[in-house]
Amino acid sequence: MYGDGLTQPIAVHDDETQRVDQAFRSEVEAFLDESLTEALREAGRETTGLKSAPDACGAWRDKLFQRGWLAPSWPVKHGGAGWSTAQRLYFENACAERDAPILQSSGVRTIGPLIIEEGSPSQKARYLPAILSGEHEWCQGFSESQAGSDLSALSLRAERDGDDFVLSGSKLWTSFAQYATHMFLLARNVPSSRGGEGLVFLLVEMDRPGIDVRPIRFIDGQHETNEVFFDKVRTPVSDRIGDIGEGWKTAKRLMSIARSNNTTTGVLRRALRAAQREAAESGDVCPQEEAKFLDLQRRIDAFEAFEWRVAAGMVAVAPAPATSALKLLATELHQAITEIGLTTAPHSEFAQAKYLATRAATIYSGTSEIHRNILARSIGCP
Ligand SMILES: Cc1cc2nc3c(=O)[nH]c(=O)nc-3n(C[C@H](O)[C@H](O)[C@H](O)COP(=O)(O)OP(=O)(O)OC[C@H]3O[C@@H](n4cnc5c(N)ncnc54)[C@H](O)[C@@H]3O)c2cc1C
Repeated sequence: MYGDGLTQPIAVHDDETQRVDQAFRSEVEAFLDESLTEALREAGRETTGLKSAPDACGAWRDKLFQRGWLAPSWPVKHGGAGWSTAQRLYFENACAERDAPILQSSGVRTIGPLIIEEGSPSQKARYLPAILSGEHEWCQGFSESQAGSDLSALSLRAERDGDDFVLSGSKLWTSFAQYATHMFLLARNVPSSRGGEGLVFLLVEMDRPGIDVRPIRFIDGQHETNEVFFDKVRTPVSDRIGDIGEGWKTAKRLMSIARSNNTTTGVLRRALRAAQREAAESGDVCPQEEAKFLDLQRRIDAFEAFEWRVAAGMVAVAPAPATSALKLLATELHQAITEIGLTTAPHSEFAQAKYLATRAATIYSGTSEIHRNILARSIGCP
């Protein structure tokens, strides 16, 4: 059977403005109008990859932090805004409408929520404030050369030695490891184990001796991902989430969080707006192209309705099929937008860069084929 989020027909929801009160909207709009300088908006508009330029991200992050709005979904007691789903989505869309810089922080969006749910009190005290202040930047160390779609085939070793684990092996495709102060990773603590057994989920400081980060350049010369080598890296046994040997369970929860906010409606709307802008600047847009833009607009509206349903029901545990459907729909839609963007503005460097940057979206965080497998299994297919 489908998870709850998929059994009901998807109805496009009421207008967004009906879900948040006027006072909240005015507060958000006043803040954004005042804080988003033209330079920040320009940095947002020019973004082609997953994050805006580092300077713009830093400046925008600081403003959100000062206002207490950097982590909209975190509870107030942990320094978040404590907003409802409706308020969070409203804010996200309002930022996108004004071309705010894209932060895409895996600290705020991925490991932070996991630490809030499953971390120890001392981990919460140590990591959450540092994520919010920008002192800590996180990267994700799951994939390896022989462990991508079949992640449970991973082989990074975590050998116990007193109060430490000693890490040996390597991780591949680690996004933004070059900026990260910390990595959350999965390692094998039982050498003879197979699959999801005998794994541990660790929080590792990137400046520990024995860690070597080497860049992987994309076809367009961008540097987002890396290979990370571990040569007898010592890290405390206590710096883990979940029990030793139970890392797979923790990783599955983390992936569910990550997939549910991988590509949001706000990201899609701003990509469509950028494609339309580039098309208009490149010359006349023919009726067939207009029709394609309208079709994409309609698909984003439908996606937004679905995103809302999943977010509203996702309190403690997100149903895996629903987050897979979100990730699959959003990333394929994002690619469709940048494809029409390139078709209508073939000579635009921005459209070319945007097209290339979204090619990997249907690979990272689980490929489209893997998400289709999850959806198929959820309705009983073999
Ligand atoms: C830009 C980018 C950023 C990334 N960032 C990170 C990161 O920060 N941290 C991290 O840990 N990883 C990261 N990854 C790695 C990403 O998660 C893996 O690339 C992805 O899981 C696919 O694994 P793979 O590359 O080994 O391909 P493979 O698993 O070898 O797959 C190759 C092809 O076979 C298909 N396939 C495999 N198994 C099946 C199956 N059972 N059924 C149907 N088809 C199948 C796949 O869909 C794919 O088309 C990133 C990848 C990219 C490209």
